[in-house]
Amino acid sequence: MSGHLRVVRSDAPLRPHDHIDFEFEEERVLRFNDPRRFGSVHWRTHAVLEHPLLVNLGVEPLSDAFDGTYLYERSRQRSAAVKNFIMDAHTVVGVGNIYANEALFLARIRPTTIAGSISRLRYDRLADAIKLILQRAIDAGGTTLRDFVGYDGKPGYFALQLDVYGRAGKACVHCGRNLKGIVLGQRQTVYCSNCQRR
Ligand SMILES: [Zn+2]
Repeated sequence: MSGHLRVVRSDAPLRPHDHIDFEFEEERVLRFNDPRRFGSVHWRTHAVLEHPLLVNLGVEPLSDAFDGTYLYERSRQRSAAVKNFIMDAHTVVGVGNIYANEALFLARIRPTTIAGSISRLRYDRLADAIKLILQRAIDAGGTTLRDFVGYDGKPGYFALQLDVYGRAGKACVHCGRNLKGIVLGQRQTVYCSNCQRR
């Protein structure tokens, strides 16, 4: 969330919360900074993908394995809200809170809808929306969190246009009604009750 990696000269002074340096040739290091200590570093010499933290992860969202059929099949009998379902790393990795809010708005699906009740057609739209939102974010260099920095230590995020996240109470960009803000799965959730009816 708020930690970062940056490439610095090996004699660059340490800042608060710098925890690990990976040393390279040419007097540069990859420095891991993690103020909230949500990150971890693991040394493993073989079968990396079989590590307990990785072995049960879902698919990559920008891979061909991730599509509406995948979401539809994984969601049958699931009573979780669809937003929690797509943010669950056992389903698909890398769909954080901002991206989940934006993708559900784009796909016109209400975040609280039960995952197991959504049709294949609507999951096709949602998978496409997730890919589009993530690709836009990558193209923009990240999102808009104030403490994000790129690999070079410069602020990385600005350009991504957010339609719903952080805009509760403001006008929907499609219909003009006020967006609703709720807390779902302990995360800020914003949607349009007119454009996202179910
Ligand atoms: Zn609307």
